[in-house]
Amino acid sequence: MRETVTPTHCPYCALQCGMNLTPAPDGRAVEVSERADFPVNRGALCGKGRTAPAVLSSSVRLTSPLVRSEGGALAPASWEEALERVAEGLGRTRAEHGADAVGVFGGGGLTNEKAYSLGKFARVVLGTSQIDYNGRFCMSSAAAAGGRAFGLDRGLPFPLEDIPRTGCVILVGSNPAETMPPSLRYFTELRENGGTLIVVDPRRTRTAEQADLHLAPRPGTDLALALGLLHLIVAEGRTDEAYIRERTSGWEEARAAAMAHWPEYVERITGVPVPRLREAVRLFCAPEAAMVLTARGPEQQSKGTDTVGAWINLCLATGRAGRPLSGYGCLTGQGNGQGGREHGQKADQLPGYRKLTDPAARAHVAGVWGVDPDALPGPGRSAYELLDALGTDIRALLLMGSNPVVSAPRAAHVEERIRSLDFLAVCDVVLSETAALADVVLPVTQWAEETGTTTNLEGRVLLRRRAITPPRGVRSDLEVMHELAARLGGEGSPEKGFPTDPEEVFEELRRASAGGPADYSGITYRRLAEESGVFWPCPAPGDPTGGVHPGTPRLFLDRFATEDGRARFAPVSHRAAAEEPDAEYPVLLTTGRVVAQYQSGAQTRRVDELNAAAPGPFVELHPRLAERLGAAEGDPVAVVSRRGRAVAPARITAAIRPDTVFMPFHWAGEGRANTLTNPALDPTSRMPEFKVCAVRVEAVRPV
Ligand code: SF4
Repeated sequence: MRETVTPTHCPYCALQCGMNLTPAPDGRAVEVSERADFPVNRGALCGKGRTAPAVLSSSVRLTSPLVRSEGGALAPASWEEALERVAEGLGRTRAEHGADAVGVFGGGGLTNEKAYSLGKFARVVLGTSQIDYNGRFCMSSAAAAGGRAFGLDRGLPFPLEDIPRTGCVILVGSNPAETMPPSLRYFTELRENGGTLIVVDPRRTRTAEQADLHLAPRPGTDLALALGLLHLIVAEGRTDEAYIRERTSGWEEARAAAMAHWPEYVERITGVPVPRLREAVRLFCAPEAAMVLTARGPEQQSKGTDTVGAWINLCLATGRAGRPLSGYGCLTGQGNGQGGREHGQKADQLPGYRKLTDPAARAHVAGVWGVDPDALPGPGRSAYELLDALGTDIRALLLMGSNPVVSAPRAAHVEERIRSLDFLAVCDVVLSETAALADVVLPVTQWAEETGTTTNLEGRVLLRRRAITPPRGVRSDLEVMHELAARLGGEGSPEKGFPTDPEEVFEELRRASAGGPADYSGITYRRLAEESGVFWPCPAPGDPTGGVHPGTPRLFLDRFATEDGRARFAPVSHRAAAEEPDAEYPVLLTTGRVVAQYQSGAQTRRVDELNAAAPGPFVELHPRLAERLGAAEGDPVAVVSRRGRAVAPARITAAIRPDTVFMPFHWAGEGRANTLTNPALDPTSRMPEFKVCAVRVEAVRPV
């Protein structure tokens, strides 16, 4: 039998590494092999990507719908029965309490086609404004700050290949050595080429160990740190005045705010000594080209938008943004974190990254959908606010591609809210902690079993291809929406607006995005099959460039996407975290990831090799704090916040600040880190403050 090798992409993080899949003779299992032609990872994969096929054939894979019986247990059911129950549950709630009593919660791992269809399904079929997705918890602050400064948010406005060719990179709150290991080579090559790497992180991570300079601020003070650096840049006369004059606006206010943040004051706030601030400025300003890249550290704060804005200010004051090999970028986290926020599953947006409040955008998208623009709902609640309203204003929920019982802040409260729903339907591949609470669970296809597009952290649109036949008993999310539209949509044949063929959905997405900020209209499946991805914006042939548009790997080189073409400084000042240490909760908690697990762990905790490498949660704490507690390595310690208590073994290391503890958030149960986290929201992005809250740490004595 001839082996068929399918080139495709990893199902996990935003790097979207290329890989080849070869089906086993039974047509179900697949083997992963190197795909060296894809430029982003050049064949390299981390352990998560290498072992991803294990989830396809996992013994805990769902292969039958589950419906909760009268007795309260989930039991296998036919697809017909399960779909009827979902339609009845959502439809009854809509009839009794109104359309906004039905919520929809999506995910940053859904393909562009699914994200697009889910936004349309919520607004056209259900008629609800209450849709948001877990990407709100991921990079929404960077998206808001990028949009405010540049008039457009695309995670990286340049390809990763530019990183080794710049002169200096400041990596703020990012640990690619653990989150996306194949990307580390870009930073290694940067240093091999004579460039410098500065890492800003409260922990001395594996990435920080490779840096020329590591700045370890107190969690929640990255904004003050950026202001201190900008103060020094101004004081030392290192600003690019011609660039500021010609390409920016708002400098005087931003400058005045920075000048109020004296380095000694910033040292007191952040704990970073002034000489290290000066060293960072020297390294950043010396080369002609430099970058600032942020990730969840500065973004997942109740002032995340302003924090990212402060780092963008550094790029603008020194004339970096919109120049070759320079500028600001965000390293998005989830697999389709970029595309997932462009096509309409976000509470305030329509496809093509259009604003739901823009009458022209509403008219355009309504035209593509064949509906009355006035009938489209307005913006709904953000992700945490939506979850917080479950059981009260929102009484039924359709959830796709997310596991908020583990991944949401103040998770015990969110779990309680989910339990209080009148009706919950979940589409998933395994019985996640959230699916286990559902009234109906619909088992769906996953990455290697279906075709679809994703958009990686560079804005590169990619084709994931079907390599194997799905197991009997599962259906795609697109089929689920098609079937539910037929049952819920009323007159006519509404399901026709929800094709099950991903390419057909993409063709509609192209039309819906045409002319918008994230214009995909010049991208086709055929192009994606032939090229190593296409960068948006990519207008359709003849509109406006004529011929085939090559895509846009680098943005802003001529002008920014603001009305006047200028980038806008953000006039931001330091403010404290929503929760600061006090006598009762004297320590700071920060949360993050480990290399062998992904997000809520719904998939990776089902892979033996990954569990062997990272079997459970832990509490990282400094030796001085451990000594005060009387805790030895491996001893159980309790971390207590105003929202709850989590217990996990101590991991004692001098790589963390003595005033801070760290917990990874991939696990449920008593070690669930998000039991502790603070849902205080950023006023602009509505991002919760995952990265900092006040806790106390207690040794757990045997009883
Ligand atoms: Fe997959 Fe990300 Fe690992 Fe690449 S780095 S193999 S995309 S999880």
